[in-house]
Amino acid sequence: MKVFVLSQEGKPLMPTTPRRARVWLKAKRARLVRQEPFTIRLRFATKAHVQATKVGVDTGSKDVGIAAIANGEVVFQAEVHLRDDITEKLTQRRQFRRNRRARKTRYREARYDNRRRPDGWLPPSLHSKAEATVKAVRFMASFLPVGRVTVEVGRFDTQRMQNPDIAHLEYQQGELQGYFLREYVLAKWQRTCAYCEAREVPLELEHIVPRSRGGSNRASNLTLACHACNRRKGQQTAAEFGFPDVQAKARVPLKDAAHVSSLKSRVVQDLQAVFGESQVSITYGYETTYKRLQVLDLPKSHTNDAVAIACEISEVVKPLKMVIRSAV
Ligand SMILES: [Zn+2]
Repeated sequence: MKVFVLSQEGKPLMPTTPRRARVWLKAKRARLVRQEPFTIRLRFATKAHVQATKVGVDTGSKDVGIAAIANGEVVFQAEVHLRDDITEKLTQRRQFRRNRRARKTRYREARYDNRRRPDGWLPPSLHSKAEATVKAVRFMASFLPVGRVTVEVGRFDTQRMQNPDIAHLEYQQGELQGYFLREYVLAKWQRTCAYCEAREVPLELEHIVPRSRGGSNRASNLTLACHACNRRKGQQTAAEFGFPDVQAKARVPLKDAAHVSSLKSRVVQDLQAVFGESQVSITYGYETTYKRLQVLDLPKSHTNDAVAIACEISEVVKPLKMVIRSAV
């Protein structure tokens, strides 16, 4: 556990140990700012030698995970629950207004189409989520010196996907490329079993021409199958199994890229406005999953994903036991 420290002027310094904080507080060399997360402010001048922390943001539509790494150590992890009542509240407000106007200003001119949406307009429900995400990072920046902020914007790199060498990528389990290819195949086959069209079931990467019969590990020979279909297909090719169209579809590369959601691109934009364009970088879900599983060996959670996002590709850190959870 770490105690967050502000300088005499209120600028964030490097976090310290609870022991040292206790000594300072007792000697009245520091005062308490906040209990959660525990933050103190020094009452004496120091030379600020801060090393900027690396921050990872796992944006979602329900929860946001945030983690900060300083000196190869995770110093802060938080999970924020986003509001999901905005749509409902606005509908209610609209109904109240409509009724009130019908009661009180009955001959009021219709004015439903004299509004204009500003550039970059987001629906209120998404706007609230973007604001809350940025707010959470800014809050962290109030007690930690924030350096690079990394945001995950999608499952995989859509620009790289246009690259022709995707067709030559080989699937290797446990490799970064393997994670990329897995996401690629998941997107291409829309997370559906190619044979029985089952969704929302565990899906396996399936070789259309089996490995045992010379099928390659490339994307053009991979599809998705549920466990049952994969078993039944066995050593047959897709055509022999009764699905010649699967084979044809596999040869066509995924063209239209899964676009970056408007929520995520707004979060990146707003973070760039706050921390500077060069400080904010983006990453992709396949990298996060690779780091979380292969390098850090952590179970799935928003804050663990955030830790993986903040890490360098082969950096090993331990997550904190304590995660701060809050609603907006
Ligand atoms: Zn199936």
